[in-house]
Amino acid sequence: MTVVKSLPLRSEVNIDETWNLQDLFTSEEEYKTALVDLEKKVDSFCNQFKGNIKDAHSAEETLTGYAEIYEKFVPLGTYANLAYSTDQTDSDAQMRSAKFGSVSANLSSKLSFVDSELLELPVEILEGAMKNSSEFGHYLNKLIRRKPHQLHPEVEKTLAAYSSSFAGPYELYNTTKMVDLSFEDFEVNGKKYPLSYVLFEGDWEAETDTDIRREAFKSFSSQLKNYQHTTAKTYDMKLQTEKTTSDLRGFENIFDSLLFGQEVDQSLYNRQIDLIMSELAPHMRKYAKLLQDVHGLKEMTFADLKIPLDPSYEPKITIEESKKYMNDALAIMGEDYLNMVNRSFDERWIDFAQNKGKSTGAFCSSPYGAHPYILISWSSRMNEVFVLAHELGHAGHFYNAHKKQNVFNSRPSLYFIEAPSTMNEMLMANHLLKNSDDPKFKRWVISSIVARTYYHNFVTHLLEAAYQRKVYERVDAGNNVNAGILNELKRGVLEEFWGDAVEITPGAELTWMRQPHYYMGLYPYTYSAGLTISTQVSKRILEEGEPAVAEWLEVLQAGGTKSPVELAQMAGVDITTEKPLRDTIAYIGELVDELVKLTAEIDAVSVK
Ligand SMILES: [Zn+2]
Repeated sequence: MTVVKSLPLRSEVNIDETWNLQDLFTSEEEYKTALVDLEKKVDSFCNQFKGNIKDAHSAEETLTGYAEIYEKFVPLGTYANLAYSTDQTDSDAQMRSAKFGSVSANLSSKLSFVDSELLELPVEILEGAMKNSSEFGHYLNKLIRRKPHQLHPEVEKTLAAYSSSFAGPYELYNTTKMVDLSFEDFEVNGKKYPLSYVLFEGDWEAETDTDIRREAFKSFSSQLKNYQHTTAKTYDMKLQTEKTTSDLRGFENIFDSLLFGQEVDQSLYNRQIDLIMSELAPHMRKYAKLLQDVHGLKEMTFADLKIPLDPSYEPKITIEESKKYMNDALAIMGEDYLNMVNRSFDERWIDFAQNKGKSTGAFCSSPYGAHPYILISWSSRMNEVFVLAHELGHAGHFYNAHKKQNVFNSRPSLYFIEAPSTMNEMLMANHLLKNSDDPKFKRWVISSIVARTYYHNFVTHLLEAAYQRKVYERVDAGNNVNAGILNELKRGVLEEFWGDAVEITPGAELTWMRQPHYYMGLYPYTYSAGLTISTQVSKRILEEGEPAVAEWLEVLQAGGTKSPVELAQMAGVDITTEKPLRDTIAYIGELVDELVKLTAEIDAVSVK
């Protein structure tokens, strides 16, 4: 059983386990001065260029100035947001982030003339400028693509001025979740246990004592439920804004509107959801059955899905030890990549601390012109090596892209975002498997890939995607949603996927409340899309070694200059067909079968 302490305050954590935001600004003063400077710079930029974009030459000049401003913008936003993410109860950080939001909306509104004026130029001029500019050709190409959906310059300006209000639902969601929502201790057999979002998702969900685990789930869900109506209303606001935007910009439907920026069509989107819902489900039900057998559970419930297959084999690991694992597993990526990995530890790019008010989960923020930052809440469980490898995958992606691309070109479509991160998880797994013949260790590694990597990307986020598609279908038909409807849709998807294998216990339907991704458009399905690509490429790396790595590094360096289909193509994967996804699902099936086999072997030995 896990011994859980309640979380310390941010002010009490060890500074070595925090990231160093001083690499962005050495002091609050410096940050404030930079913000004021930026406002001045934007004003003088507007004076110089507004109304003057007339031809290819002035277009190029304007974009050069625009890029400089953008580069100053990025670290300011990163600083404000990252400081807030490590302690959302810190009112100074909250105010700083809010203030940055309004300043940034104001500046975006002022700067909206750039795209508007460029788009008012005749297409021939734009295309000419595009062909002649090695620096901004790609930016202009994307702009031309947007032309049919661009609104009148004054409308664009007004919409940009409201951008921080449009971000309102996401902020409200976070405030409810991270600030207002608090949990009382729960009690099992006369003993009390502390509860919070981080503790629930980091510890209790995987607790092996069934009574404690299920009680934690019950207690967690009942507190979530108290906020379901506020959260649903907040979400509905977001959805209606997206629907209005889609209509105003003349998209046929909300899906086309949301996929537009991802540069993929609905067939790629729908394929991930349809194939995984139908073809992965049998494999995952088999996995659930295995968990149930191994743990001797009378019934398998939704609250039991996160227990480790072999709780007696969950090695603990220190931060220092994790560094060695990263070095060994990612060595194949080459010296430069490894150098970045080591710097991330040595120069405090990573925030490991667990504290009150910190964002849940893990993420990597990669500001252009600075080094990446990684947020994680280190639990000392061995499987944190996968979380860390994942986030370092994002870091390595932008570290490479930023070296080769300008500020406008470094970020690829969301569809591709999770490919480099999940690639590192696969590399970690391959490394661990290669270095041990111990069946218990092998089973631990494979179950980490199945229960963590694939579960997270192909189950958790995919089921969110399947639910989200149903939500958007309703909204696109002109309807609203409320807590009752969302609960029903979520429950329906869970039941469809798990069938008879897992009982969808009361409270499971509230899982939609736990995911901030719903405020980021069609994000959830992209996890499985990225992992499909990385599964296929990691197999190539395993078989071919160096040449496959070199191609992958080129893909990372291409940043946002290619579409997802082209990026995958560069790495030898054709995602215009079903094959990579089918192969990946079949591979997950093989891994589950391997777990069943290893479990039988291990049991046979322990019986003797
Ligand atoms: Zn990620």
